[in-house]
Amino acid sequence: MKTVYTFGPGIAHDDSRARDKAVVGGKGANLGEMARIGLPVPPGFTITTEECLHFLRDRHSQSARLDGEVRSALTHIERTVGKRFGDRHDPLLVSVRSGARVSMPGMMDTILNLGLNDQTVRGLAASSGDERFAWDSYRRFVQMYASVVLGIDHARFEDALEKAKEDRGVSQDVDLSATDLRDLIGEFFGIVEAERGAPFPQDVDEQLASAIAAVFESWESDRAKVYRRLNGIPGEWGTAVNVQAMVFGNLGETSATGVAFTRNPATGDKAYYGEWLVNAQGEDVVAGIRTPQYLTLAARTAAGAKLPSMEEALPAVFTELARLFELLELHYQDMQDIEFTVERGKLYILQTRSGKRTAKAALKIAVDMVEEGLIAEEAAIRRIDPASLDQLLHPTLDPDAPRTLLGSGLPASPGAASGAVVFDADTAAVRAELGENVILVRQETSPDDIHGMHVARGILTAKGGMTSHAAVVARGMGRPCVSGASSLSIDYQARSAEIGGVHIAEGDLITIDGSTGEIFQGALPTVMPELDREFATVMAWADRHRRMNVRTNAETPADCEVARQFGAEGIGLCRTEHMFFDGERINFMRQMILAANVAERLVALDRLLPEQRSDFARIFEIMQGLPVTVRLLDPPLHEFLPHSESEFTELSAAVGIGVDQLRRRAEELAESNPMLGHRGCRLGVVYPEIYEMQARAIFEAACAVSRETGQPVVPEIMIPLVGTARELDMLKRIVIGVSEAVFAEQGLTVEFTVGTMIELPRAALVADEIAKVGEFFSFGTNDLTQTTLGISRDDAGRFLGSYIDKGIFATDPFVSIDVEGVGKLIAMAARLGREARPDIKLGICGEHGGDPASIAFCDRVGLDYVSASPFRVPIARLAAAQSAL
Ligand code: PEP
Ligand code: MG
Repeated sequence: MKTVYTFGPGIAHDDSRARDKAVVGGKGANLGEMARIGLPVPPGFTITTEECLHFLRDRHSQSARLDGEVRSALTHIERTVGKRFGDRHDPLLVSVRSGARVSMPGMMDTILNLGLNDQTVRGLAASSGDERFAWDSYRRFVQMYASVVLGIDHARFEDALEKAKEDRGVSQDVDLSATDLRDLIGEFFGIVEAERGAPFPQDVDEQLASAIAAVFESWESDRAKVYRRLNGIPGEWGTAVNVQAMVFGNLGETSATGVAFTRNPATGDKAYYGEWLVNAQGEDVVAGIRTPQYLTLAARTAAGAKLPSMEEALPAVFTELARLFELLELHYQDMQDIEFTVERGKLYILQTRSGKRTAKAALKIAVDMVEEGLIAEEAAIRRIDPASLDQLLHPTLDPDAPRTLLGSGLPASPGAASGAVVFDADTAAVRAELGENVILVRQETSPDDIHGMHVARGILTAKGGMTSHAAVVARGMGRPCVSGASSLSIDYQARSAEIGGVHIAEGDLITIDGSTGEIFQGALPTVMPELDREFATVMAWADRHRRMNVRTNAETPADCEVARQFGAEGIGLCRTEHMFFDGERINFMRQMILAANVAERLVALDRLLPEQRSDFARIFEIMQGLPVTVRLLDPPLHEFLPHSESEFTELSAAVGIGVDQLRRRAEELAESNPMLGHRGCRLGVVYPEIYEMQARAIFEAACAVSRETGQPVVPEIMIPLVGTARELDMLKRIVIGVSEAVFAEQGLTVEFTVGTMIELPRAALVADEIAKVGEFFSFGTNDLTQTTLGISRDDAGRFLGSYIDKGIFATDPFVSIDVEGVGKLIAMAARLGREARPDIKLGICGEHGGDPASIAFCDRVGLDYVSASPFRVPIARLAAAQSAL
């Protein structure tokens, strides 16, 4: 099987592997595709991801076969370009870049201008006729190669560069002359010798082989691992390596480099969005080294920027670029993120990929593209990442709140965020771990900051544009971000900053608005966002295509209202124990628990009854005839008892029982393994009066609401933690007995069902027996995961991370259903349940009900509904539609 695929003018492989992103990576596949459809792509070749895995497995040694294939692919580039690698007179230079199956912006390594040495740099100077350009390219190469391949801290070189500029009294890199650069390279060589004890490699073949190895190795770098974990990318994918002929954006005033999106990645507006720099190489734009210029006249005018747009400075190239944007969007039928270079007036496309975008932009682009006739409704639904909707549903700044504006930057990633200022990623991680909201404030960010960006509420940078690392990564993560705030100056040493003349120390509170680019002092209040037309349109499309219903897990009226607004079609789980924690109720509850006998217990239950009844009534009213699954009391009783000294004293005063007696009772109730102890239906079995009270509250509320509103009320009474049909049968009889009594008292009957949670392996195994009694099943996948895996849901956090890092689990089984194990039990229970009771209703109410991958699984096994927390209801609606398509 081939391990190297060439691309460039006139090359069309008939091997489908050459188009397969799993084999050649996303970048490799797109480069090949662009070359095939006739776009100006510099020729090159891609080494497969399989080869990366080989290399990493085989103790980091490259095979002779790979060397041979690389050599002949290099010859292909040489022939196409008409230059030779290592030639002293007119050398071919190449770039070496990573390219995984999905894009991992900035996570792995890139080396540009490879093929330069003390000889070829002179050839490059002669062939280009530009001495300074040649030395600048060499300077960049040595710097990149030394940090990426030789592993020397790049700050060493940055410091030397800064010092060189200082010594010559200049501020910009471009102000350094050829001689200055040559001297600087000499210094760089000194750093390399000192650090490595060997001179900088002059052999271009060795440079290439080592660069390829370094890119392979970067797949295993810490930052790439963190990124993979955050984005659920498996370690066994590996990265491809792309080697491509260099074209130069730093060959004078008619050369340039830039990054562009075919539509605005923050808002979704149909307008080219991009940045470019004249006389520069690509990393200058991305790394925020120079502040880039706007691509279009309209964008420049809107921003009031002085430097000319590309549309004005290089109009002919801009027109050609715009033509290619249209072509690429049409070809890929999606918004593209494109890197281009102009070498002495000639345009080259170096990369295209589906552009990362905010959730807002994703919705707008999808809806616009359907309206433009570019894609079908189904494609639009498929394209939106359900999890990203979360970004839209969260609060924005309260427009009426008083505020002190400190300054502003670019609106790089929307949403409002407040928190304590921190100046580095490690501090962000430490303070966030302690539960603090932090805003990461940096000069600019780099891939090393990724862990801090992830835990921060928001990101603020002083430098860099809309396509800077901070902006791209923040949009991908859904973190609000303001980038390029020029009035922000940071003093890392002093751990302080100044914005608009105001001193900010580490820990001070600020608020950023990533939708406007504004920065405010203090923490400003927020409000719920208005959901726009595109959101409603996509949700309506999703509803049309999904098979499963979507319900919510909610027990407070406020949560029920939110869930209804988000389109919940019922309540899948109302955890009644949450209703006992409030105000005075906790004391009635405690009295009930502390009761010495049934009579005492009944007195306390009588006090709880009206409270429960009014809660249920309110929920039934809000849900207006939609089904409401009420789960009877689940947790062990000792959870309701006090823990601290002061709580015991307080309780003693409230209930008139001595502290000692209270403590004794708490000790009696304490369990060594409460998750497997006296909880769930076991409480109902031992203290039937508790479930009787709850059933009475439900039926009385149902009768009252049905009488008042004239609307049907649909209670579904759910018994938790059932393991045997007999438990369920016993408790169902109690519930039915109460219903008969209440309906007789009220002179009114309400339809209801009694069902159970399937959250123990035994329940799944005997689901047919249980279904003879229970009218519905709701899979409690939190407990079912805990009991099937034998992993405590409360302690899993301590070791599951290692399990995921070591590839034992691809994802956290408490987040995404363990399809192989827990999933098998669910599928079996669903089948057995249906066999015993064909019209049985099946749903899920564990946390997995809001997880897109788990929702797809639920669809496959034919569940009738999923139930998710209110904010995840829209996510679940979209995920259910995607899985139905
Ligand atoms: C479950 O176990 O999945 C469930 C929904 O119940 P709880 O989380 O309340 O135990
Ligand atoms: Mg449970």
